[in-house]
Amino acid sequence: MIDLKNKDYVVVVQCHIVKERCSGYNCERAFNERTGGFAAYPKDKAYRMLNLTCGGCCGRATHRKLSNLIRRINKAEGITKDRIVVQLSSCITKDNFHAPPCPHLDYLKRLIAKLDLDVREDTYIDKKSEMRRKAGLYNTNTGENKQ
Ligand code: SF4
Ligand code: SF4
Repeated sequence: MIDLKNKDYVVVVQCHIVKERCSGYNCERAFNERTGGFAAYPKDKAYRMLNLTCGGCCGRATHRKLSNLIRRINKAEGITKDRIVVQLSSCITKDNFHAPPCPHLDYLKRLIAKLDLDVREDTYIDKKSEMRRKAGLYNTNTGENKQ
């Protein structure tokens, strides 16, 4: 269990392909309102937040980007990696109308684990999509989305 009260810095990693057309607004709003994947974060604590993308398939750049952050933030501000938490965006972790979860999700988590960073899943959770997921309407086995 990750103790979010002891974290100060949240890194939201988003899908590079999706971010070609998405501003990331819904992720930012979910964080600001502490909803969806951010519901467990205490509302009364101020966190720093950084968004970055995985760099494109297969997501390997995530390791380079996070490792750069770890080095720089420690050198500049003395912030250690135990105070950082990585949050994988819902477009990486969740099945939705557009696509199944990232095919490299486990690989991404392994890259982050190699850096000894805590990682969590989900950011913005759309109510309608969540309802459809629960009802099994996104059929990733056949590739059919039953609308
Ligand atoms: S979860 Fe939604 S808002 Fe966040 S980056 Fe993905 S598509 Fe954009
Ligand atoms: S590795 Fe996953 S998260 Fe990154 S661009 Fe490819 S599909 Fe998106």
